Amino acid sequence: MKLIFMESPLMDWKKVLENETTLDPGDWTEIEVLGQKMVTEMVDYLQYIDQEPVWRKPTDDLKLYLKGKLSEEGGDLEKIYADFKQYILPYPAGNINPRFWSWVQGTGTFTGALADMLASTLNSNMAIGDHAAMYVEQQVIEWCKELMGFQDESSSGILLSGGSMANITALTIARNAIDPSIRKAGVQSWPKKLLFYASSETHSCQEKAAEIIGIGSQGMRKVAVNDRYEMDIHALRQMIEQDLSAGSQPFCVVANVGTVNTGAIDPLAEIEQICKEFNLWLHIDGAFGALTKLLPEYNEKLEVLSKADSLAFDLHKWMYLPYEVGCLLVKSKKYHRDAFASQPSYLAMHERGLSAGPDPIGNYGMELSRGFKALKVWFCLQEHGRKKYEDMIRQNIAQCLYLADRITHENELELMAPVPMNIVCFRYRAADMDQNQLNILNKEILMQLHEQAIATPSYTLLNGSYVIRVAHVNHRSKKKDFDALIAGVLDIGRRLRR
Ligand SMILES: *Cc1c(COP(=O)(O)O)cnc(C)c1O
Repeated sequence: MKLIFMESPLMDWKKVLENETTLDPGDWTEIEVLGQKMVTEMVDYLQYIDQEPVWRKPTDDLKLYLKGKLSEEGGDLEKIYADFKQYILPYPAGNINPRFWSWVQGTGTFTGALADMLASTLNSNMAIGDHAAMYVEQQVIEWCKELMGFQDESSSGILLSGGSMANITALTIARNAIDPSIRKAGVQSWPKKLLFYASSETHSCQEKAAEIIGIGSQGMRKVAVNDRYEMDIHALRQMIEQDLSAGSQPFCVVANVGTVNTGAIDPLAEIEQICKEFNLWLHIDGAFGALTKLLPEYNEKLEVLSKADSLAFDLHKWMYLPYEVGCLLVKSKKYHRDAFASQPSYLAMHERGLSAGPDPIGNYGMELSRGFKALKVWFCLQEHGRKKYEDMIRQNIAQCLYLADRITHENELELMAPVPMNIVCFRYRAADMDQNQLNILNKEILMQLHEQAIATPSYTLLNGSYVIRVAHVNHRSKKKDFDALIAGVLDIGRRLRR
């Protein structure tokens, strides 16, 4: 049989090919000049970022501009860059500013930005193939293991877009480690209800993960915490025993190293003991807090970190790398690979040529096409060295302790949680106000801090109290920035009380 490649062609391809085109610039010199201008102007911008307001409300003008329709014919690059400078650059979230401590958002570095430019130039797809970038990622994973003391020969790791992806990847591996048949038959065919345990202070991404991996948010059992917001180990044991006698199947405990609200560290040694006793996977969410592993002062608390079955942490938070990059380390490479490996004919490895090389990274996670985010890690870790990160993280914690100390010495302020690392929760207080009035007052103080561009801490609720929350992963903050925060809170609080 002779195949006819196209019965009635959709186009006159011979005509189309008379004028072959590309997206490369018509004039490379022009883009080189523009690129150099961009670098110069961004260096300038970042160098003087402390003179910019920490937040500027996006204007109506900007919102209108960003509703413009897509052009048919394209436009001038200089003009697009000018628009970027007019409408986008002046209105950042502010996490590059020394007075920013909202949510847990990292600061980034200019080296990271430059490395991103190099990575995008190469445009390496980090799924498969025998090319240098694949070996860079391997080296970066080895460095991450070294930093976390996760150096088993049989361990593995992968770079992901962030903590949420690292955690769901870990929970998928933990779930599939129960029995290889789960990958095929799904949880619906499993005879028992599958459960994992995490403290009530655990980040919401774990609950989302529970929903996505098919056990439902009810499959995540929330364990009570003590007054330091750490998992109550007796409550954990009790829950596991009750669930077992009810016929359910516990499979994993997620322990926090640095809860998102207060930075609490769950009692790792006790949790590890329970995991051993009940044969449960120990996963640690150390999104930012795992990086305290770099500090000898945290050694004792974090001894168990390197014994976990899996460990998730972000590099875009407390390693100051530009978004996005997180990391998952897994004790057993076999479980890791068994959870995701898939080798269709079009991804099969060859003995030689481009299709040889390291085991495709797609065998270790959900994503196939992946960016070369390893390069910025590779650049920054080499530039600064391990010690510099240790010093930087210690400085952040010391600044938080300074802030907490100042709060405890101010009559009108109240520290609302312990400060085990880099999060400080506090509020303005007034003896004559009830809880509800204090909540309203402190929310107003926070919004005014932002609007007046004094500083941008964030907020949370702790036992029903609205608190101002400083989550500090900012390498640009100085002591004086925290003084400005205190002065601002006192000033706004007093004015509102008048
Ligand atoms: C930030 C955070 C996450 C989620 O990480 P992303 O990088 O934002 O996806 C998970 N757990 C904790 C404790 C976090 O602080």
